[in-house]
Amino acid sequence: MHTRRKNRTKNVKLVGSRISAGFAIGRAYIYRDILKETHDFYDIKRYQVAEEHDRIIRAMRAVGDDLGLSARRIEKELDTGLADIFRAQGAILSDEALAKELGNELKRELVNAEEAVKRVFHRWEVKFRQMGNDLLSQRADDMADLCRRLLRRLEGIHAHTLEEIPEESVLVAKQLLPSDTVFLSRQSTVAVVVAFGGPGSHAALLTRAIGIPAVGHIPQLLEEVRSGDRLIVDGTSGIVIVSPDTKTLESYKERVQKSRIDMVQAKKRCDEPAITLDGVKIEVTANITCREDLELALENGADGIGLYRVEGLYLSQTVLPSAQELFEVMKYTLQPAADKPLTIRLLDAGGDKRLPFLDLPREDNPFLGRRGIRFLLDYPDLLSTQLETILHLSQILNIRILVPMVTLRDELERVRQMLDTAATKAGVDSVPPLGAMIETPAAGLCVSDLAKYVDFVSVGTNDLTQYTMAAGRENPLVNQYFNDHHPAIFKLLQFVCDSVPDKPVSLCGELAGDEASVAQVLRTGICGLSVAPPLLPTIKEAVRKVRLGI
Ligand code: PEP
Ligand code: MG
Repeated sequence: MHTRRKNRTKNVKLVGSRISAGFAIGRAYIYRDILKETHDFYDIKRYQVAEEHDRIIRAMRAVGDDLGLSARRIEKELDTGLADIFRAQGAILSDEALAKELGNELKRELVNAEEAVKRVFHRWEVKFRQMGNDLLSQRADDMADLCRRLLRRLEGIHAHTLEEIPEESVLVAKQLLPSDTVFLSRQSTVAVVVAFGGPGSHAALLTRAIGIPAVGHIPQLLEEVRSGDRLIVDGTSGIVIVSPDTKTLESYKERVQKSRIDMVQAKKRCDEPAITLDGVKIEVTANITCREDLELALENGADGIGLYRVEGLYLSQTVLPSAQELFEVMKYTLQPAADKPLTIRLLDAGGDKRLPFLDLPREDNPFLGRRGIRFLLDYPDLLSTQLETILHLSQILNIRILVPMVTLRDELERVRQMLDTAATKAGVDSVPPLGAMIETPAAGLCVSDLAKYVDFVSVGTNDLTQYTMAAGRENPLVNQYFNDHHPAIFKLLQFVCDSVPDKPVSLCGELAGDEASVAQVLRTGICGLSVAPPLLPTIKEAVRKVRLGI
């Protein structure tokens, strides 16, 4: 328990990283992880074992019922993929071997129910995590989640604390687990602030997808903020103001109000093209991972899809998806935008995104390892299945193909050859436009050479920043170096655009969604911006205010 500090200063400014733009004012709702708190821990006598085991079994049944309810609710309101997380957790709980293991722990160690639950689940969590692939580390998260739920039940707390988050709250947390984020709803949560987690974290992706401001990477956050404190969250500048004074509060109230009005205005015009003051049309497209993203993108006036990330289709599977399965999912996802250009990025796996069904060697430095196209070229069957599937799709949809993590000309030459071979095999006459992602400084500096093999270029500033600034995307220790606004990034953008004057160059990294940078980005010669679906209306509106002066 924290005690409220006396004479707390007003207007404490905490500087972090911007992870989702926008302004919000609300009361802090501190989300503490129950696993990190201390629990009743006491020894029991042998005759108490049955009683404690009974408590655990009752809690397991109650949590099982909660999970079933959550799954049904989420399926109805959000999506089936998330509901499956809860179904899988329910299945773990109903496993008799687990109940037996908990009973044995009580008997052997003679500790109370809470402690036995904590120990057994922790053991499983560690085991799964050490096995070190994505799927099993998700299982580790599931074990941590289940443990929390059981402890809450045993302690008589009935709901996930995020289910009860009061209206107009700013969620303040050390970090968020994927299953925590399911409970974030736009109605009650006005913003998110996390102590750990930068622009690539779960909290970042989720808040951007639902369109609420968020700030990350404030290590001292939980010392500075108390439950109920008034907070201003400025996701655009990456700052949080604790207990603002009247003047600051009033000025931010105006900004919140203005951004609401601007949003309504932008939304009204979102279906119109984004044309600069000097008459240049900029294609504003969306980055998506699933059909729900695409539907929101269409509602928000997307000119097309600039980046369809397909990793989810692979990472959630225990076996390699068949060509038919891929075709069905991609078609289902993209069909509602059949009349628009749709850019599918080839699987960007390898490195840190390990495919659960392939036993790949561990790499010491995965981000400098066999990622993206490097990985695909080492598994040519995986690549040709994708190319054939995409070619079939291109017969009914307006498809473009994007190659991730390009460094060498040879990579594009080989993809081009494989695409032609796949076209012959599939009996397809014309191949869709092929594009290279520029995510490494080498690709940026040699883009004129690479461009001979492709029809368009798309700059991925997230990875380009990581490699140019030598700072990991997810590494909070070097957050201040991971700066996609650094002059080095703009120089590279300028260089890329100047080097390929005859090919369209677009931008699909997070920088594209930064309203304040739109003018500077477009002046480099970038002709398309691909952004998270909630940002489309404001980015289109920002383009309309730019004078390129060319
Ligand atoms: C990028 O690197 O900028 C990009 C858009 O790809 P991802 O974020 O999926 O790595
Ligand atoms: Mg990338």
